[in-house]
Amino acid sequence: MAIGPTTPLTYDSKIVIVGGAGTIGSSTALHLCRRGYKDVTILDVYGFPADQDKYGPSQSAGASDINKHIGATNSGTRGEITELTMDMWRTDPVFKDHYHEVGELSAAAEPAHIAELRESYEDQLRHPVRFKHVKWLGTRDEIVRYCPHLANAQIDGWQGIWSAKAGWGAANDAVDSVGRELKKFGVRMVFGESGTFDRPIIDPVTTRCIGVVAKDGTKYEADRVIMATGAWTPSLVDLQGQCVSKCWIVAHLELTAEEAARYKAIPVVYNEEVGFFFEPRLIKNYEPGKDSWIIKLCDEFPGYTRFMERQPFGADHPVKVSVPRSHSAHPTDTVPDEGMKRLRRVVETMLPEFAQRKFVKSYMCWCTDTADAEWLFCQHPQHPGLFLCTGDSGHTFVCLPSSGSVTADLLEGKLSAERMRKLAWRPGQGDPGHTGRGGPEPLDLGKLPGWTHGDDERAE
Ligand SMILES: Cc1cc2nc3c(=O)[nH]c(=O)nc-3n(C[C@H](O)[C@H](O)[C@H](O)COP(=O)(O)OP(=O)(O)OC[C@H]3O[C@@H](n4cnc5c(N)ncnc54)[C@H](O)[C@@H]3O)c2cc1C
Repeated sequence: MAIGPTTPLTYDSKIVIVGGAGTIGSSTALHLCRRGYKDVTILDVYGFPADQDKYGPSQSAGASDINKHIGATNSGTRGEITELTMDMWRTDPVFKDHYHEVGELSAAAEPAHIAELRESYEDQLRHPVRFKHVKWLGTRDEIVRYCPHLANAQIDGWQGIWSAKAGWGAANDAVDSVGRELKKFGVRMVFGESGTFDRPIIDPVTTRCIGVVAKDGTKYEADRVIMATGAWTPSLVDLQGQCVSKCWIVAHLELTAEEAARYKAIPVVYNEEVGFFFEPRLIKNYEPGKDSWIIKLCDEFPGYTRFMERQPFGADHPVKVSVPRSHSAHPTDTVPDEGMKRLRRVVETMLPEFAQRKFVKSYMCWCTDTADAEWLFCQHPQHPGLFLCTGDSGHTFVCLPSSGSVTADLLEGKLSAERMRKLAWRPGQGDPGHTGRGGPEPLDLGKLPGWTHGDDERAE
């Protein structure tokens, strides 16, 4: 069967973004609207965080969170657009109120990790601007000078990089802000069953993708379909093993107002051997009718997979795929015992004052890794008009303001040959199950004690 060309892209082309309330999807819609595209539709299972009374919280999607680390990076395409990313966080009216530049400590205690951090620090010293904002902290006293809240923490042997021009983004507020901007542009938004992707519509003659069918049977015609469905993508479209979805654990500690005041505006603290945490935020209606001061923290480990047989679009037989299981659809699911132990270690190590305090919430959040930790932003090789924009590799929220510019360039044929090569469809290269994160193989959730869950297989 001949593969037909796509229709020419014009400002009136119908563009459907699946996963349009997520990080890459909402960013893509924003950039397309700003470039003048007039017929943009976003589909998502859940709405923007502010719509949660209507559609529920999209709690396992990367974009749905109280805070995420924001800072410059050297890594791959994310590194190449890092100046745009940080500039938009600081100055763009959609983002600037949601970025908190409190600084960041990135530290380690093991010699091999310290050596890697030192290398990254030396790299930054060679950067024409960034060198001004970083400092090497080689002793406990130096660390405590920049992070006084670690005075009683177990940080003996820690060394690392202090970055003044970094901090955290109020993830849910920032994504909501994008949502409000998209409404002003007149973007059509469909959430719930009618926004949940079931399959693409393929022209039988040309094999071109000409739309999508939602779970409830609603059909959307399109000149371009963009799959920005994050960790769910490999179970929706056969990516031939290019992405493996994994989850990490988030836990919340509740503080009193007096305790929260003592931790106000502290820097983000990240230790790749332990985990990371952020300053407390006052969350309105954390429980119905009750506002709460919450510290969010995460452990660091290779992530958990959840392999099962699925037949995503494009596979002619069932294949093994790691399928997310969302906390939003399964709110009573627990966290594996060994994960809970690691989370307690984050508190004991970094926040010993709260070593005995119970978590008020813990849940899993899903990402999808590629073998080289680079994005997969490309047209489907068999189906012109169908684009994959995924492979976040666990580090893409920071690119909420900027990732959509790469999608827009891809659609407009403006990506450089070098960038196209890096982001291309590339099955069979490396092992995304064990993406350059180091450490042991990721464990599968199915085998882990303490992970209690029902039998309902709904993924999203
Ligand atoms: C614990 C944890 C901590 C993290 N911390 C950071 C950090 O500090 N800084 C950072 O930069 N990154 C961080 N990340 C990574 C970051 O969250 C992700 O890289 C990023 O959000 C991925 O964006 P995405 O658009 O690919 O996916 P998502 O933001 O997850 O969006 C995918 C969207 O697709 C929708 N969807 C799913 N299935 C369907 C369907 N069938 N039909 C329609 N829509 C569908 C979902 O509802 C969702 O809205 C963290 C991730 C985790 C898990």
